[in-house]
Amino acid sequence: MSAVENILIRFAVAYARTSSASNPKHSIENQIAVIKEYCDKHNIVLVKIFIDEAKTGTTVTNREGYQTFKRFIGDNDIDLVLVAYSDRLGREGFEFIRSLSEIKKKEIEFISVSEKINGSELSPIQLGFTAVRIEFENILRKQRLSEAIQSEIKKGRCMNQPSYGYTKDNNGFLIVVKEQAAVVKEIFDSYIQLQSSVKVAAHLNESGYSKPNGSPWDSAFVYKILRNKNYTGNQYRKSKLQESFSKKRIYLDDELLTEVGHQAIIEMKTFTKVQEILDKKSKTRIVRFNLLAKVLYCPNCNSIMYGDFRKQKYVCKERREQKSQCPVLHKDYIEPKVLTFLKTRELKNVEVTEQQDTNSVINRQDLLEQKKELELKFATLKISVKQFNNEMKKIITNLNRLNEQKNFVVTIDNDDSFTSLIERGEFEEVSEKMKKEKIKISLNDNEEIIEINKNN
Ligand SMILES: [Zn+2]
Repeated sequence: MSAVENILIRFAVAYARTSSASNPKHSIENQIAVIKEYCDKHNIVLVKIFIDEAKTGTTVTNREGYQTFKRFIGDNDIDLVLVAYSDRLGREGFEFIRSLSEIKKKEIEFISVSEKINGSELSPIQLGFTAVRIEFENILRKQRLSEAIQSEIKKGRCMNQPSYGYTKDNNGFLIVVKEQAAVVKEIFDSYIQLQSSVKVAAHLNESGYSKPNGSPWDSAFVYKILRNKNYTGNQYRKSKLQESFSKKRIYLDDELLTEVGHQAIIEMKTFTKVQEILDKKSKTRIVRFNLLAKVLYCPNCNSIMYGDFRKQKYVCKERREQKSQCPVLHKDYIEPKVLTFLKTRELKNVEVTEQQDTNSVINRQDLLEQKKELELKFATLKISVKQFNNEMKKIITNLNRLNEQKNFVVTIDNDDSFTSLIERGEFEEVSEKMKKEKIKISLNDNEEIIEINKNN
């Protein structure tokens, strides 16, 4: 080796990443081997290798290795960045271009060893093509991955966090956790007796049980368990709540996913019985039940209003005796109004700082679609970096705003709040809670719900 060649020695760092798809070509060992071989051939000194490795069945989300790699090439004098395959640099075309531009900014060369791509030599068009190819392969990979997951679930493997009452063995099959299974049984049995998730939660707390995280039981968690069909010995995909024409919520049957089951905690018979009670209770608001008994006061004479579910209305004593011009309030009219009031009452109590523009209710799904579209436009070089950054900033701001609201909803969802009871259709509990909290309600002249203080 001559002295001139020595000067040409270059310093490189490498980045390797596994994905959840188990392509042996993409194993970390293989990526490193390919990179090392390339370094040997081209007089390159490999200073450091950064690795993001996913555990089986998971994806690399935070890419910690990549973050350290980024800092490292910022702080050190490096000539080259090496990867085995270009898609290791980013899972999606968009991510690839982003990462590549970060490297370019530092005037470092980028080489994808197997594909012989030299980033600094790529024309914008080639760059776009590379990004599109990565995007395309990514879609294929996701498809294969999802098929693989489906077939594992069919065989009885649990690919998610196991439900309370179960844990996973080393092969990913569900096994019963005895103490927790006893609590699940207790929840179903006591629900059939008490017929109220709030009462079941109270019963569990009185009996000295606590949730896995140590916090006391609440009706939302109880309800989740009562609706979980996986306890009957197979894995199901939860059905979505369907809004029907009458705005009532209907539960569709959960979709069976497995061919090989696991040990059941709850008999199908018991599970079905509980579903029937839950479904029936969510319908009681309209039939044979006065939601606002002992809560509603006459807007005219201020005396209490009595419910009459046969005639679907509330009337005060005066009116009932035909003595006055007091109004009749129909269930259809007043009950939805009160439910909305109860929800907003809770919203106000938690102090929402930022009020969302109600004229442009932005949907989360729409935003994610927009984001994806924007990324694709950028990856295929249809828009400039400046346009991309501006648009992305808007989308991210809106997403964050939604997330804040979402967190907020989650906090009230995880307890016995009016909002969560109403969402779940547990109207008898709503009624109980109003009485317990001594809430008294009437209407003002604008037909708005108001709370009144009655100290007797
Ligand atoms: Zn009256």
